[in-house]
Amino acid sequence: MNLKEVADVFNKRGFKARVFDSIQQVNDVLLEEIEPGQSVGIGGSITVNDSGIYDLLKERGNTVYFHWKVPPEERGGIRKLASEADVYLSSSNGVTKEGRLVNIDGFGNRVASMFYGPDRVYIICGRNKVVETEDEAVERTRTVACPKNAERLNRNTPCRKTGKCHDCLGEDRMCNIKVVIECPPPGKEINVMLVDQELGY
Ligand code: SF4
Repeated sequence: MNLKEVADVFNKRGFKARVFDSIQQVNDVLLEEIEPGQSVGIGGSITVNDSGIYDLLKERGNTVYFHWKVPPEERGGIRKLASEADVYLSSSNGVTKEGRLVNIDGFGNRVASMFYGPDRVYIICGRNKVVETEDEAVERTRTVACPKNAERLNRNTPCRKTGKCHDCLGEDRMCNIKVVIECPPPGKEINVMLVDQELGY
């Protein structure tokens, strides 16, 4: 998988795509491009959580809204504040070679903030997120990410046991909203940061 070629396709579609060797390089660029006075929202993401950027930004003086870092009763309010921040950080469930970002969300806050709300977005993805097509991205999300998330969140879903999607219904279902971003909306800067490492799932 040539990440530079994937980045070129995204750039032709109006995204701002770059390739990095490591997540440390990504953090350095984020600390450079995000101003200390800007507020930052973070969507639910193992990649972003594990990167350490939350602590780096907080230590630097940024106001950062990340619902994984607060008690359950505060999460709803933090999700809303994150969606109104100056800058938003997240990963994507799938990045296609055709230049699309494919995501499946439970609450919708993460995907909504990717295409609406904050004026500048950074999508950070390891090479393991890059796939050929939208269908493959959806399949990957339902058979790789969802079972692992069900385990992590202790959700009683059939995919947790079988590793396959059964289109379950009920309160433990995690796949409520499916979104494909084909091009950035007018006035929105979407940075796609492709990292030549395995990151998240
Ligand atoms: S719809 Fe249900 S079974 Fe299918 S991947 Fe989502 S949570 Fe798992």
